[in-house]
Amino acid sequence: MSEQKPKILIADDEQLFVQLMEATLKDEYDLHFAFNSDETLEKANRIVPDLILLDVVMAPQSGFDVCHALKNERRTRDIPILFVTSSTTMKDEVRGLEMGAVDYITKPVSPPIVKARVRNHMELKKYKDKLERIAEEDVLTGLATRRRFEDVLQSEWRRCWRQEAPLSIAMMDIDFFKPFNDNYGHGAGDDCLRKVGAALSGEVKRAADLVARYGGEEFVCVMPETDLDGAIAFGHAMRKAIVELKIKHEHSDVTHFVTMSIGVATVVPVEGIDPFDLVRRADEKLYDAKKAGRNRVEAAVFEKTEQ
Ligand code: GH3
Ligand code: MG
Ligand code: MG
Repeated sequence: MSEQKPKILIADDEQLFVQLMEATLKDEYDLHFAFNSDETLEKANRIVPDLILLDVVMAPQSGFDVCHALKNERRTRDIPILFVTSSTTMKDEVRGLEMGAVDYITKPVSPPIVKARVRNHMELKKYKDKLERIAEEDVLTGLATRRRFEDVLQSEWRRCWRQEAPLSIAMMDIDFFKPFNDNYGHGAGDDCLRKVGAALSGEVKRAADLVARYGGEEFVCVMPETDLDGAIAFGHAMRKAIVELKIKHEHSDVTHFVTMSIGVATVVPVEGIDPFDLVRRADEKLYDAKKAGRNRVEAAVFEKTEQ
């Protein structure tokens, strides 16, 4: 939810009701209006309001159809929908709630009740958004969390599978980070992690690529539609970007600066392989890079027979 007034889309074809809602809600919210189902879908997608007051009786599609369409669209599926209708049958109410509407109000409405309910749902939305941010954004580096990485990996896996395209993963781990912390302190360690995170995201040029903090001083990058050569090139760019930060590290056996080892693995998703097999393969290559002397990239194509 934005810092400005929260946005509400009022979707109703009844002029009197719309005027009443406008008078009731305009002081606290930024109001937008839609008078038919097509306009509702168009505005919901464009504005992405914080809440929609949705009339069940609409044309050409019903409010239920609009709700269904909104819930099926990634961009709009988390917008709370409050159904508004003149129909008071229990069946409709259950149907609306089962479709994912958060609440149901019946005309004629009482403005103070609408106001109070809208406010409650806005509060819930605010906490839901906040929880989502916490779950998906690493507080220290601002990068995606491991959880978000896993979600993206699974959806990109399915997409590459359909397109018979390669998918690559790079697992990255800072070299000798324990001695870095032990000698320069935890604060300097955190600062280093922030700089490394920023440098890695700076290297990401394609919208579909995602860099995440995997845990501790380990990072991961998902590269959809990227073959092994592409992923290796990317790995080298990442490795170089970290050395070029020139973060002093006199207790590293590699150089006097902070460095990173990288393991890359690529696969064209097929039946019988799990996306996490690919992660494990990249992790094995990372281990090889550590063994081979650190500050390097090791890579492999994941073969199904390897399981
Ligand atoms: P290698 O070169 O083999 O990767 O050795 P390493 O010392 O980097 O690896 P090790 O796994 O032994 O140590 C990782 C250290 O990372 C341990 C911990 O002190 C540090 N670390 C993990 N998470 C954080 C963090 O959030 N902040 C800070 N400052 N340090 C962290
Ligand atoms: Mg390490
Ligand atoms: Mg580690």
